Amino acid sequence: MGLFKNCKRIVVKVGSSTLTHGSGALNLRRIETLVRVLSDLKNSGKEVVLVSSGAVSAGVAKAGIRRSPDNIGQKQALAAIGQSELMKIYDRFFSDFGHTVSQILLTRDVLDNPHRRSLAESTFENLLDMGCVPIVNENDPVSTDELTKFGGNDILSAYVAEVCHADILINLSDVDGLYDKDPRSNPDAVLVSRVEAITDEMINAAGGAGTERGTGGMTAKLKAAKISTDAGVPMFIMNGENPEILYRLLDGGVIGTYFPVKKN
Ligand code: GLU
Repeated sequence: MGLFKNCKRIVVKVGSSTLTHGSGALNLRRIETLVRVLSDLKNSGKEVVLVSSGAVSAGVAKAGIRRSPDNIGQKQALAAIGQSELMKIYDRFFSDFGHTVSQILLTRDVLDNPHRRSLAESTFENLLDMGCVPIVNENDPVSTDELTKFGGNDILSAYVAEVCHADILINLSDVDGLYDKDPRSNPDAVLVSRVEAITDEMINAAGGAGTERGTGGMTAKLKAAKISTDAGVPMFIMNGENPEILYRLLDGGVIGTYFPVKKN
């Protein structure tokens, strides 16, 4: 395909289940590999925006709680604790590879408001001009309702790709891509390598409310793919277990599930 060899601006979304161990604690080896690959892509001339979950998980580990609470207020507090922990780790790893990170926390009402959206847009532009890596998350401690919540970082990443005018959105997941049926309960499920049109039927059939450590699941990823491709940004879903997979895609390989932009 070779389609994405020359793309310049990349948004990578990585979910909590990829960033953490089964225990819920941060998977430092994987985060370090991810940061090394992203740093190297930057060294090769690409611009990188990272949409990272993991704040609540990092907060749970930092606060020494055994598992994520169901209480929303406590979750918000843990997100506040964990966000700075997460940034500390990203800052340290990116600094080791010679790059500067920056933090952007968004809520839905920011992007729904044309003035505030344009401020966010120009901040992304300025940060990328300065050679920084913007690291984005939902501002969980202050977003609880439908007006302020994106409904997970899959959806957030699609809006970020739009606001950043990205060339490609890559969703690093804990599955290889979209399957024709739920692979967790159907061993004969087949990976779908290309999806031309995302229908409501597909979104409803995708099922899967995500895992204990992630909120996304395939339904949110399909909704994200619709938002992203409608905005003119192609999206991929790929397995983030080994972040070096990003090289294969950007070297021209065909991996995971590709959602091309519709031509009209
Ligand atoms: N914003 C949440 C966090 O940082 C994750 C939401 C999601 O994974 O969709 O923990």
